[in-house]
Amino acid sequence: MRIGICSGSFDPITKGHVDIIERASKLFDEIVVLILVNPNKEPTFSDHERKELIEKSISHIKNAKVDCFTGLLVDYAKKIGAVAVIRGLRAVTDFEYEFQMALINKKMYPEMETLYLNTGSEYMYLSSSIVKQVAKFNGDISSFIPATILQQVKEKICPER
Ligand code: ADP
Repeated sequence: MRIGICSGSFDPITKGHVDIIERASKLFDEIVVLILVNPNKEPTFSDHERKELIEKSISHIKNAKVDCFTGLLVDYAKKIGAVAVIRGLRAVTDFEYEFQMALINKKMYPEMETLYLNTGSEYMYLSSSIVKQVAKFNGDISSFIPATILQQVKEKICPER
């Protein structure tokens, strides 16, 4: 079985992420959407909340599941026998960081490939932080995140409204 990992912070998951996961799920037998916990970053949504939001957003993708991990992506990939990590590329600004990560991961675990999928053009501008900024000032985020999680995200970011 060929397992691919879609890794990220997903703080919170957006329609841009879902698009990448949907497309990746057609290329692999199984996709693990992996929330990588960065102990140096204080996320808006807890690990548990992020996992729940992803599960609600990708329940239609039958060969995808969600997990959470503190540590190196390569160690997780080795543990489950994943053959690739799939990342989304929005613009050249993503490229430098992604290139560095791919090279370091290759050095640590040569058996794992890094695959890039281009962002869907309608999601090029979209990031978790933009969603949070717009929601904070009570802007309309319905075109940015899945309908199934809209209320939960709004309540967390802008609880007084
Ligand atoms: P990270 O902190 O690892 O970059 P993110 O949650 O920001 O985590 O992103 C996870 C992955 O999803 C990354 O590969 C990122 O480039 C990709 N991604 C994020 N937003 C979009 C989008 N709008 N379109 C395509 N890919 C995206």
